Amino acid sequence: MLKGLNAVVTGGSRGIGREIALKLAQNGANIFIPDIVISENTEQTLSDCRALGVQAEAMVCDVSSFEAVKEFCDRMAKEFGGVDILVNNAGITRDGLLGRMSEENFDAVIATNLKGAFNFCRNLYRNFLGRKSGRIINISSVVGLNGNIGQVNYSAAKAGLIGLTKSVAKELAARNVTCNAIAPGFIQTAMTDALTPEVRAQYEASIPLGRLGIPEDIANLALFLCSPSASYITGEVIRCDGGLAM
Ligand code: NAD
Repeated sequence: MLKGLNAVVTGGSRGIGREIALKLAQNGANIFIPDIVISENTEQTLSDCRALGVQAEAMVCDVSSFEAVKEFCDRMAKEFGGVDILVNNAGITRDGLLGRMSEENFDAVIATNLKGAFNFCRNLYRNFLGRKSGRIINISSVVGLNGNIGQVNYSAAKAGLIGLTKSVAKELAARNVTCNAIAPGFIQTAMTDALTPEVRAQYEASIPLGRLGIPEDIANLALFLCSPSASYITGEVIRCDGGLAM
């Protein structure tokens, strides 16, 4: 379905990004992973993708740096023939109650989760105009819709990503490029492994489907949004949260 297309999955070394990379690779897309660290996880993801018969490369790139992202995108154009699918997935948390949240932790979360997506959309703008087709998927969060105690920085970034998604969707629609956001609920990854057992149990109790999600739940939705079946969907925010934010 995606044979020969080039997909960039930011922060695709592990967790949700890894699963999206694998799902797109299973469907024929070549995978390119900009990540702040190239670790054993990255190498594992690359070899798992290559075993599916596609090209897979990773490059060190801090998504919060406009210059680093520009360098990555220039390389994509020169060495690999550009980008068809962009998944802005890289994200961090620096949780804390408002009364204790430092300026540094606010800025760091905005820089990675929100500005990182801008950096990629901006540096791939001409790429997408020239291709006259393309898919952009931004990984937001249900807390960007509903807010969350202890996550003023993260929910602001994820809400900002929704505004960015809709504006990019409007600007690029005439070029047949769609831009959508996925709003995951609580998904089992290193990010949620950090939760205490009590908090985790509280979350589970609040999810109508009665379980935390798995990365593949998000990857299935990302694949759908990249597929021809989703060609008439743009500017949409789709929750994938077991009913949490209903
Ligand atoms: P994770 O921590 O397992 O993986 C994040 C990846 O992003 C890592 O590979 C990390 O190295 C990379 N990364 C971090 N900062 C980066 C930077 N500055 N530049 C480049 N790469 C960077 O996280 P995850 O749980 O897989 O989350 C993936 C995305 O899904 C994030 O945007 C997160 O906010 C979002 N999300 C996660 C959940 C959840 O419950 N896990 C829920 C809602 C949304």
